Amino acid sequence: MLGNLKPQAPDKILALMGEFRADSRQGKIDLGVGVYKDATGHTPIMRAVLEAEKRMLETETTKSYAGLAGEPDFQKGMASMILGAGYKADTTAALATVGGTGAIRQALELARMANPDLRVFVSDPTWPNHITIMNFMGVAQVSYRYFDNASRSVDFDAMKADISAAKKGDVVLLHGCCHNPTGANLTLEQWAEVAQILETTGAIPLIDLAYQGFGDGLEEDAAGTRLIASRLPEVLIAASCSKNFGIYRERTGILLALCPDAATKDLAQGAMAYLNRQTYSFPPFHGAKIVSTILGDDALRADWQAELEDVRGGMLRLREQLARELRDLSGSDRFDFIAQHRGMFSRLGATPEQVAKMRDQFAIYMVGDSRLNIAGLNDQTVPVLARAIIEAGV
Ligand code: PMP
Repeated sequence: MLGNLKPQAPDKILALMGEFRADSRQGKIDLGVGVYKDATGHTPIMRAVLEAEKRMLETETTKSYAGLAGEPDFQKGMASMILGAGYKADTTAALATVGGTGAIRQALELARMANPDLRVFVSDPTWPNHITIMNFMGVAQVSYRYFDNASRSVDFDAMKADISAAKKGDVVLLHGCCHNPTGANLTLEQWAEVAQILETTGAIPLIDLAYQGFGDGLEEDAAGTRLIASRLPEVLIAASCSKNFGIYRERTGILLALCPDAATKDLAQGAMAYLNRQTYSFPPFHGAKIVSTILGDDALRADWQAELEDVRGGMLRLREQLARELRDLSGSDRFDFIAQHRGMFSRLGATPEQVAKMRDQFAIYMVGDSRLNIAGLNDQTVPVLARAIIEAGV
């Protein structure tokens, strides 16, 4: 039977990681996979995470099953971090999931349970996993224009025109901050216009919030999500703790369903717990406990936030350095968008041939669509990349 299986194309980004590892050239630079790295190329465990784990080791007395939808402390801590003062516990359903990916998957399953004819509007481009998960599920997709390749910024008029075609029962998938793969984001004024369109059409937003704290700050990066939450009766939010807590392999995420009333919240909560039960039963505990330990302790939380700010500041400085180098080398400001983008990624706007040239001639690896991971750089490799970009003719 298993011989009937069709070969699956390997995930492009994971395949790129393999190619990088196999490259024996000295000084090779990995700007591929979306993992934060410090100046030495290491993905560290954050101080507060280590301290939380130490406390857990000292105090935990059982490994028995915990909550099917996650622990209340984790749910409340995350919902408050995401929604701020706008968090309304009595109308917000929450589900601990297997990473942000699990939250997206469960959000889509939930939406399809509510509407079997679900259509999801997705930005062009988007995180490729959005597309492949929906293809796998057989969920209909409508792509909306998002990125203007000429200016490397959001083509907001096109986006508005395209999402205006959404209808009641459709879901519009939005990146809460630090758009992956482009790095180009909506302003708060634009978020307000999106809210207006969603109000008019009756479509429901699904906000993918995978990088809160990596863009303009923990509060700032949630501003668009909070604005949407304050305006619309129903909102789905799929958040990941992989990046901002640096706990990628612990698989920690949360799905929030903001509901118009307590009765709807109870319905959503029940359906969400059911979805966990049918998929993997109990969600991972360890990462969620790390997060709730940090968020629930003022000193730990302050230390975590300070380290997160250092991470964010480091990436911003690398962006500015790269934009500066490119300004000097090109004698133009056409690469200034790199300093305006936010988060770990920027889409350079290079052709596949130019991306291949940077890999073959300069041992610089980025994703084929020219998404580069800023955190893969350091002050020494920024000038190397800048030269490669110019010599590849970008
Ligand atoms: N959404 C986006 C846009 C992402 O980039 C990622 C991570 N690459 C995720 C969701 C999910 O992250 P994870 O499942 O690792 O928590």
